Amino acid sequence: MATAASSSVVTLEKKKRTGSFRSCSSSSSSSSKKPCTRCELVGFDSLPEYLKDNEFLLNYYRADWPLKETMLSIFSIHNETLNIWTHLIGFFIFLCITVCAATTIRRHDGAGSSVTEQPVARWPFFAFLAGAMLCLLSSSACHLVSCHSERCAYAMLRLDYAGISTLIVTSFYPLVYYTFLCDPFSRGLYLGLITALGAAAVLASLVPAFQTPGYRPARALLFSLMAASGLVPIAHKVAAFGDRPEAIATAWYELAMGIFYGLGVAAYVARVPERWMPGRFDIVGHSHQLFHVLVIAGAYTHYLAGLEYLKWRDVQGPYCQC
Ligand SMILES: [Zn+2]
Repeated sequence: MATAASSSVVTLEKKKRTGSFRSCSSSSSSSSKKPCTRCELVGFDSLPEYLKDNEFLLNYYRADWPLKETMLSIFSIHNETLNIWTHLIGFFIFLCITVCAATTIRRHDGAGSSVTEQPVARWPFFAFLAGAMLCLLSSSACHLVSCHSERCAYAMLRLDYAGISTLIVTSFYPLVYYTFLCDPFSRGLYLGLITALGAAAVLASLVPAFQTPGYRPARALLFSLMAASGLVPIAHKVAAFGDRPEAIATAWYELAMGIFYGLGVAAYVARVPERWMPGRFDIVGHSHQLFHVLVIAGAYTHYLAGLEYLKWRDVQGPYCQC
């Protein structure tokens, strides 16, 4: 940490000498106490080490901006603008879905009308929606303010990783709870294992090296393995309930979700298309934006699966008959 901080200072001093970087930090030791009113976007080579993540994005970086300017940059154009807005819009989409689901979902009785009998528990379905909203909002906030300082970046990236873990863990809840409604052992086993895995991933993300560019494949592998472990309960579901149309329909949704997430992770790790034309996709079209959009598509597909699970268990009734 100390080495990184001192190298950042050296980098800043070098940029000041060469004139290629204008610091906007209000904590500057300059004799002027007035914070600068206009912050400039800088190139990759001018970044402090903690912000160097993707060398194929060449320009339009914010670096060490004061907090106020950092917050207001949500309304300006830089290479994080679409990263912020893709997940912020995704958050509002899921907020609307949650409100609509809470106010309109009624128990299915198999004939298309609602009934008043106590329905099957809704908490796994809403836990997933809450996990999706937490992930999208923390990601958006992380992209907005991480450029403020190294301390801020460290804290926000932990929040981002915790949000990703929460989305993955809560995605298991509808799948496991509704599929194994009448099998408490399998239900408890799967829910316990994925929750423990999620907690372990959050703890692993506390290691400072976890956020460095060299650990990009390791980060992708950890979260991908967590998500891929969902194949076990899905295979169990198809084997046990292959004759139920809802079980097959939800498995198709889960396959589509896996494809969306898989494509997103592939773009994230490979850093395409910017790798092919560095500098061309700095503002629009780089891999992280594609990753964000594919995450929203995957989460939305899982929401559709959640509706199917509710229909399945409501039609069958809240009481186990198996
Ligand atoms: Zn992101």
